[in-house]
Amino acid sequence: MQVFKFGGASVKDAESIKNVTAIISKYKDQELLVVVSAIGKTTDKLVEVTKNYVDQTGDAFVQLHAVKNDHFNILKQLFDTENHPIFDEIANCFVEVEWILEEEPQDSFDYLFDQIVSLGEILSSKVLAAYCQLSNISAKWVDARDYILTDNTYTEANVDWEKTEDKIRRDIPFILDEHVIITQGFIGSTSENFTTTLGREGSDYSAAIFASCLNVEDITIWKDVPGVLNADPKWFDQTELIPELSYTDAIELTYYGATVIHPKTIKPLQNKKITLNVRSFINPEKNGTKIRTTNQTLPVPSFIFKVNQVFINIQPRDFSFIVEDNLSHIFNLFHQNRIKINMMHNSAISFSVSIDDTGENVWKLLEDLEKRYKVSVASGLELITIRYYNQQTLDRVLVNKEIIRELKDSYTCQMLVRNIDE
Ligand code: ASP
Ligand code: MG
Repeated sequence: MQVFKFGGASVKDAESIKNVTAIISKYKDQELLVVVSAIGKTTDKLVEVTKNYVDQTGDAFVQLHAVKNDHFNILKQLFDTENHPIFDEIANCFVEVEWILEEEPQDSFDYLFDQIVSLGEILSSKVLAAYCQLSNISAKWVDARDYILTDNTYTEANVDWEKTEDKIRRDIPFILDEHVIITQGFIGSTSENFTTTLGREGSDYSAAIFASCLNVEDITIWKDVPGVLNADPKWFDQTELIPELSYTDAIELTYYGATVIHPKTIKPLQNKKITLNVRSFINPEKNGTKIRTTNQTLPVPSFIFKVNQVFINIQPRDFSFIVEDNLSHIFNLFHQNRIKINMMHNSAISFSVSIDDTGENVWKLLEDLEKRYKVSVASGLELITIRYYNQQTLDRVLVNKEIIRELKDSYTCQMLVRNIDE
C-alpha cells in the first residue's frame, strides 16, 4: 500500500495532468491512494475571491469566473467531447460557491475561507480522477472530508486522530482492493460536516494522515525539484541533492523554514516509521530523497533563507525581569494574532523575536504589545539558518551582511541579518 501526493505545480495544466496520470498508471496495479492539491495557483485565487466577497468589493464573481475558465480550458484539452459528465460535475461544484457569494457575508472570515477555498482541491481531484478513468485506470474519487475529521479551528484545523483513524481504517483498505483512490489534500470536515482546511500548503500533511492511519510502508511526495536539496535553488545557485535524510534532520529543516515539505508532515510518519520519498515528477525515474530512520547525518551543510523578516524587541516598561508571567502574556498575544515565531531569544530584561512580515496582523500585534511593553522594531531583514554549519559556510553567507542576532547550538546556527549598502 502506498500514498502519493501531487502538489499544485504538478497538475498546473493539461500536459501536467497527463504526466501525473502517466506516473499513477505505472503503479495502478498496486494499492495506491493519491492525494492532490488544487491546480496551479487556484488556492491563491480563491483566497482573493474570499477577501473580495467578505469586503463586498463586487469583484468576487469575476474572480471566481476566471478560476472556472481556467478549469474548463484544461477540461477541453483533456476530454474530446464536452458531453463527458465531468463538465457538468465541475460546473456544479462552482454553483455551490456561487450560492455563497450571492448572499451577504454573515459568518466569520475563517469559516467562509474554508468553505470557498476548499473548492480548489475538490476540482483538481475530480479532474484527475476523471482523466485517470479515461486512461484505463480504475480510479475512484473519494471525498477526504468523509475521512479527515477535525475541530472547528477554521483555516488551521486540528485533526481528531482517533475518529480519523477509525473512518479511514473502516473503508479505505476495501476500496483500495479494487481502485486507485484519488482524494484531496488540505481539506477536512468537522463532526457537523462543515468543511475545514489544515493550513496553507497542508496537502503533504493530508497525505501523511492517510499514510499513518493506513500503516503504509511508503509515501511519496512528487515535486518539481529532484528531492530534498541542501538549499532552495531560488536563493542559492550551487545546490546538492540529499539522497537520505533522518526524520530528525527533516523536522529540523522544515521547522526552520525549508519549504520542501510541510512541517506537520514528518512527525506522524516518524511515529510509524513510514519512509517518506521526495521525488521529481519531471524525472520520475530518479530516486530522489528518502526520509527514514537512519544514523546518517546530513552529508552537507543545509541552508534555509527567510526574507522579509521583522525583528521585535520587547522590554517590560517598569524594568522588571522577563519571567514566566510576562512571557506567557507575550506568547498569548502572538497566538491570538496568529503569528509564528521564526527565532526567539530572551535575556533578563528583554525578549526578542523574528517573524514573517505578514502585514496587518503584525501591526495589530505591535499595538497589543505596546500597551504593556517598550517595543522596538526593525524590518526588511533576512533570517539565515544553517544546519551542520562550519566557519566556511558562515563566511559564505555573511558577505555584505550585518548580524543583528545570532543563535548557535552544536548543529544549527541562526542569524538574523541586514544587507549592508555598498
Ligand atoms: N492548495 C493548498 C495551498 O495552496 C494546499 C497545498 O497546496 O498543499 O495552500
Ligand atoms: Mg499549493
